[in-house]
Amino acid sequence: MIPATFSYARPTTIDEAIALLTKHGSGAKVLAGGHSLLPAMKLRLAQPEVLIDIGRIAGLNTIAERDGRVVIGTMATHAEIESSALVARACPLLGQVAARIGDAQVRNRGTIGGSLVHADPGADFPAAILALDAELRLASPRGSRSVKAAAFFEAMMQTVVQPDELLFEITVPKTATSAAYVKSEQKASGFAICGVAAIVDAQAKTVAVGVTGVASKPYRATAVEAALRGRALTPDAVAAAAALAANGVEPLGDIHASPEYRAHLAAVNTKRAILKAVAQG
Ligand SMILES: Cc1cc2nc3c(=O)[nH]c(=O)nc-3n(C[C@H](O)[C@H](O)[C@H](O)COP(=O)(O)OP(=O)(O)OC[C@H]3O[C@@H](n4cnc5c(N)ncnc54)[C@H](O)[C@@H]3O)c2cc1C
Repeated sequence: MIPATFSYARPTTIDEAIALLTKHGSGAKVLAGGHSLLPAMKLRLAQPEVLIDIGRIAGLNTIAERDGRVVIGTMATHAEIESSALVARACPLLGQVAARIGDAQVRNRGTIGGSLVHADPGADFPAAILALDAELRLASPRGSRSVKAAAFFEAMMQTVVQPDELLFEITVPKTATSAAYVKSEQKASGFAICGVAAIVDAQAKTVAVGVTGVASKPYRATAVEAALRGRALTPDAVAAAAALAANGVEPLGDIHASPEYRAHLAAVNTKRAILKAVAQG
């Protein structure tokens, strides 16, 4: 339970962090809250030569409004997102999701950026980030780039983030209150066995559904969205569409739930999340 030897750097600006990432390449790892990285190091599943602690970079945990969108710094903790008045007003789905993560200690330490880059298949934020069509902003020696949530997650615990890249902010559109997150979780950790984030746009008659915990990576339930496009969201129509929630994915099986049970939960939680969002509209 003792990590391999590593050195430690504490940049105070994004540029300094990028310079360190450039210098050390894949030998370096960004340290956010350390909630996933440190246990992985203790188990020697990760053996970085250098840890680049981004916790002292000013402004990286800022939550603000810019150009009509909500901008969340990568180091914003789950607790900061849960308690943000701006999030509650302009994008309540994120606050709802943050409140369901782990326990108070986890929420005080874990960061949205760490959660997204770590890409645990049971992490909660990815469901909301996908449903919201968020943009993730990455900095590297080549400059910065924006990646749509739909293109961010590649496989289990794998994203498009390169070894010399730093996720520095996540931007989401302002959304009305017609959104809900419903999850069935592992009781010990809180990680999702199946978490569904649904956003209902009553005017456009569209529904966006993000699912986490069910497959090796989070996904948009596009079959459900297509089945409901332009339709009245009656309980029967929603239930029929929600039955398609695991279409085209290979549900995971582990000691917590079989693939069949995860697929079942995907349908049930999708129905519940959409109807809950409809009820708020
Ligand atoms: C007991 C326990 C229970 C938990 N329960 C839940 C739960 O119910 N739901 C849930 O969603 N999560 C849960 N988590 C996960 C937790 O909330 C954190 O989000 C997650 O562990 C990531 O931690 P961190 O933010 O400290 O990132 P770290 O552990 O510091 O980093 C994680 C990975 O991301 C990389 N990284 C971090 N930030 C950046 C960045 N800005 N740019 C590039 N790379 C970066 C690191 O190099 C590392 O590889 C739980 C964790 C624990 C320990």
